[in-house]
Amino acid sequence: MNTLIDNYQTVKQRLQQAQQTYHKPEVQLLAVSKTKPIEAVNVIAAQGQQCFGENYVQEALEKIALRPDLEWHFIGPIQSNKTKPIAENFAWVHSVDRLKIAQRLNDQRPVELGKLHILLEVNISQEASKAGFSPEEVCSVLPEIMAMKNLECRGLMAIPEIATDFEQQRQPFAKMRELLARCQAAFPEAKLDTLSMGMSGDLEAAIAEGATLVRIGTDIFGARNYHKN
Ligand SMILES: *Cc1c(COP(=O)(O)O)cnc(C)c1O
Repeated sequence: MNTLIDNYQTVKQRLQQAQQTYHKPEVQLLAVSKTKPIEAVNVIAAQGQQCFGENYVQEALEKIALRPDLEWHFIGPIQSNKTKPIAENFAWVHSVDRLKIAQRLNDQRPVELGKLHILLEVNISQEASKAGFSPEEVCSVLPEIMAMKNLECRGLMAIPEIATDFEQQRQPFAKMRELLARCQAAFPEAKLDTLSMGMSGDLEAAIAEGATLVRIGTDIFGARNYHKN
C-alpha cells in the first residue's frame, strides 16, 4: 500500500514540476483505475484524489456502487448498447467518438443528474485503427452536440500514437491545442475549457502543450496484468 501512496505522490510532483517548467496553471489529475481493485482506489482517494477514470462498464459500475462519493470519468471505447449505464453513472465521458454516441448519451442521461460533461475524442495521429473524430470533423459536429440539452461539451481528448522522443510526443499535443483554440474561437459561447491528454509515458509533453487534465494509470497503480474488453 505504501508503494501506491509513493507512486501517487511522485506523479503529483511530476505534475507540479511540469506546470512550473512550462508556466502552466494547475493541471487536473485523473487517476485511471481500470483493472485495479476498489482497495487501491480507496488508498488513493484517502490521499485526497477525487477523480477516477475507468474503461470497462461492468467493472466500473461495481466500483461506483462502492464509492458514489467520487467523481467517475468514462474513458474507454463506447459500444452503442452500453451508453445507458454510462449516461446514468458517470459525471464525465472523455471518449465520445461519434455523433450517434453523443445522441444516445443525451437521450439516456437522467435529467435529475444534471448535464453529463463530455469530451470529443480526436484521432489526432490519423491512425486507421483508432477511434475518434478527424480534426476536420470536430468543428462541424460541435453545433449539433452543443444543442444536446443533457450534455455539456467541455473540450477534446486524444490518445496519440506512441512516441518515446519528447519532441515527437509534443507534436500531436500541439495540434490538439491548436484545434481546441480554433473551436473556442468558432464557438465562444461554449464552455470548451478542457484538453484531456497525456498518460504515464508522456504527461510532461502533454502539459508542455497545454493539457488541462492528464489521465494516469500505470505510474500510480502499477502495470496492468490483464486487459478485458
Ligand atoms: C489506460 C488508459 C490511460 C492510462 O494509461 P497509463 O499509460 O497506464 O497511464 C489513459 N487514457 C486512456 C484512454 C486509457 O485507456
